[in-house]
Amino acid sequence: MIIKEEDNNIMFCRNGCETNLHFETSIRSESGKLIPLEDDGSPHNCPNRRRYDPGNENGIEKKIEKMDKNLLKIMLDVQFIRMNLEGQKTLDQT
Ligand SMILES: [Zn+2]
Repeated sequence: MIIKEEDNNIMFCRNGCETNLHFETSIRSESGKLIPLEDDGSPHNCPNRRRYDPGNENGIEKKIEKMDKNLLKIMLDVQFIRMNLEGQKTLDQT
């Protein structure tokens, strides 16, 4: 069995999602750490790790909460406009 030099960089994800990861010395995070990459070369966004990252989830939840409020406001606006339009219609008909 021939071990290629690049095989030294291949490892399985430590978080147990069984994804094959590799590193490229040219691809690093802002802090200079090597970023684990998947087979297609995209950064590994571990599904196992995300579950244990409450800070990240809180951020997403807050964003969704904010979106919900915006959506609610838009829905109320639309309802208000529709009521106005229907009101005008009925006025026109009479
Ligand atoms: Zn993983």
